[in-house]
Amino acid sequence: MPRKPKTADADIIVSDKKSYKCLCCGKEYDSPIGHFYKNSYGNWKANDNYTPICKECVTEMFEKYSRMYESDRTACIILCHILDIPFYNSLYDSIVQSSGTCTPGKMSRIVLNQRQFQMQTFSNTLTNGELNKNALDVRDEKEQKWSKAEIQAKDDVIAIVGYDPFEGHAENDRRYLFSDLIKYFEDGIEDDPYKLSQIIQVVINNHVLGMVRQWQTLFYDHRYSNTVLNDKVDFVKLAEAMGAVGIRVTKKEEIAAAFEEAKKNTKAPTVIEFIIDPEEMVYPMIKPGGTLEDMIMDC
Ligand SMILES: [Zn+2]
Repeated sequence: MPRKPKTADADIIVSDKKSYKCLCCGKEYDSPIGHFYKNSYGNWKANDNYTPICKECVTEMFEKYSRMYESDRTACIILCHILDIPFYNSLYDSIVQSSGTCTPGKMSRIVLNQRQFQMQTFSNTLTNGELNKNALDVRDEKEQKWSKAEIQAKDDVIAIVGYDPFEGHAENDRRYLFSDLIKYFEDGIEDDPYKLSQIIQVVINNHVLGMVRQWQTLFYDHRYSNTVLNDKVDFVKLAEAMGAVGIRVTKKEEIAAAFEEAKKNTKAPTVIEFIIDPEEMVYPMIKPGGTLEDMIMDC
């Protein structure tokens, strides 16, 4: 004989009509469309793969966390965690680059529509170590996807100038600048009107750290701290040691001749060292706490 259902069981029988409830504000909707974000993985299966927090609440939470941590990125990570969608720094950056800001909504749309992110949840963010990446890691990661020629251009340009000349530029600019600059190292650009026929490096040598020393002279009663180098570096010999031509100028009358000689030297760079008086000042300047009206033109 079938058992009679208990009264308590009868109480939990819900109506057939399905509704979608936000677990944050409690609002209910007959249709999830337009009210909830969709998630492809299936952790919200009983909710037809819609996340259980409504779009309005997501926006409010995003703004709250963004204020709390003073970071949209952090707020976005937290919301991705709550909605159980993956977060990627490189994706975040590319959304910011293309549309100014990245919200959980934009992130979720892309994650849903791009094949490589489908079937992923926030656990992928954790297992990929995405949260420990700094800006440089993210940049390196993006640049690893450049073409072979672009990566080679980047390496060669850096090797020649000695450091990354486009540090801080946006990725697309870096890509362009490296690819453009590399042409200057190729053969057959002798006729390029922009190519320098000679390189002249000028060293103004007063044997002190001039700007700070000038402050110490004028405002701190000549009390010099860490600004007098008295170094013995011989820039002429240093230039020659590196295959350049070195010229030293100690008098005004020697300036014109030094530049004439440097211009004639098209085979290697020329370093001209100008020995100047450490007491020479640079004007105009403004004293500490002064305004433009207090500008010092001469002493
Ligand atoms: Zn809500």
